[in-house]
Amino acid sequence: MKKLFTLCLMMLSTIMIAQTNQYDDDFINQVKQLRDQALTNDLAYDITESLTTEVGARLAGTPGDAKAVAWAQEKFKALGFDRISTEPVTFKRWTRGQETAVILSPYQHQLAITALGRTLPTPADGISGEVVHFATLADLQAADKSEVSGKITFISERMERHKDGSGYGKAVGARGLTAQVTAEKGGIAAIIRSIGTDNNRTPHTGAAKYDDNIPSVPAGAISNPDADLLLNVLKRNKPVFVKVTLTSHWDGDYTSQNVIGDMLGSEKPEEYIVIGCHLDSWDLGTGAIDDASGCGITMAAAKLIKEHLGSLKRTIRVVLWANEEYGISGALAYHEAHKNELKQHILGGESDFGAGEIYALGTRVAEDALPTIETMMTLLKPLGIDYIGNQGSSGADLIPMRKAGMAVFGLRQDGTDYFDYHHTANDTLDKVDPKALAQNVAAWIVVTALAAEAEHDFGFDLTD
Ligand SMILES: [Zn+2]
Repeated sequence: MKKLFTLCLMMLSTIMIAQTNQYDDDFINQVKQLRDQALTNDLAYDITESLTTEVGARLAGTPGDAKAVAWAQEKFKALGFDRISTEPVTFKRWTRGQETAVILSPYQHQLAITALGRTLPTPADGISGEVVHFATLADLQAADKSEVSGKITFISERMERHKDGSGYGKAVGARGLTAQVTAEKGGIAAIIRSIGTDNNRTPHTGAAKYDDNIPSVPAGAISNPDADLLLNVLKRNKPVFVKVTLTSHWDGDYTSQNVIGDMLGSEKPEEYIVIGCHLDSWDLGTGAIDDASGCGITMAAAKLIKEHLGSLKRTIRVVLWANEEYGISGALAYHEAHKNELKQHILGGESDFGAGEIYALGTRVAEDALPTIETMMTLLKPLGIDYIGNQGSSGADLIPMRKAGMAVFGLRQDGTDYFDYHHTANDTLDKVDPKALAQNVAAWIVVTALAAEAEHDFGFDLTD
């Protein structure tokens, strides 16, 4: 038994040595050089500036969406990608309308409001009603129908600020469910405090859950200062009446495109390292941190790898995903279109958490690929990046393929300020620090190049 154990151990260490030494020294040195050069390269910033300036807001299904698709093809071409393609993505279009809210009594105030994506419209002249307040979504869910019936609900929970963005997951349920829960209890409209960490009068939009077969009501988010004001009015213990006018609505079907740029592999061109960003944005700002910067980072990483390291063994595939924001429609369409070749998708990651510096790498790969990740880490450490384990996740657009078993990685960005601007009119280019963006590119170059050149794959059929 002991002998067998020793033998297994020897075999394992042989595999590990083989994987650790799979790259020749020249290649590793070239990657190190490119990593360091990338720290002062402004290509990612230039791409981000280009998308936010020449296209700007690009809500899925709007003229901005079509302009972004054209921009992406042109940009891939200008950057010298080997193969550029588009794949159709059809979804139900949601169009933003008029959005206003006022406190009618006991004290009149205008409230800064924005409709939650995928919610239903009020009549053109709005809906008026008494406000019933809940501190949290759970409180609304626990409420008796008689408390809610005929009223406008208001959830006031404030999102916490954390570097890793974990406050978002805790707070965002209110945005997702308030319209349906309010409808189920007989309410007539729903207001939430914005899911955001700022104190500006810039409400945060974002998608709500929607299903044709589940009742829903018009719903909007008010800015943090407006939520504070409404709470102060409610504290007087007098009935508070509000009028909301939200005319955003569903508007037929629309076909957008995933835009794909490939840097072809020299030995295994049919195997893909999938990186990218989502091309669509919400419409209130110019979508600079969400997610033009992710496009800038990953397009620049692929371009700089090709320019300085030549063609690597596998294809580096940059996917600019369509309609992430209200449906991950591009991700679902890609998964469907490529379901017979999923195993050719060797490793994937998406840059979709703003433009802050990267501080950690998380992975979800097979155990025997961990030595390759260790090699990546020796090159990432000098960038201030730590490894946070093999239980990592991926960006939203890789969820369908990750669930099917694909290996993924996540380069975690400092999100301390991200939710000050996320999904607001303040998501503009001035929030992007070119130096932080360049550090992102350096990290994406390391992971992408080593994955594309690896002798081994990263496993498949991984449990989610
Ligand atoms: Zn995003």
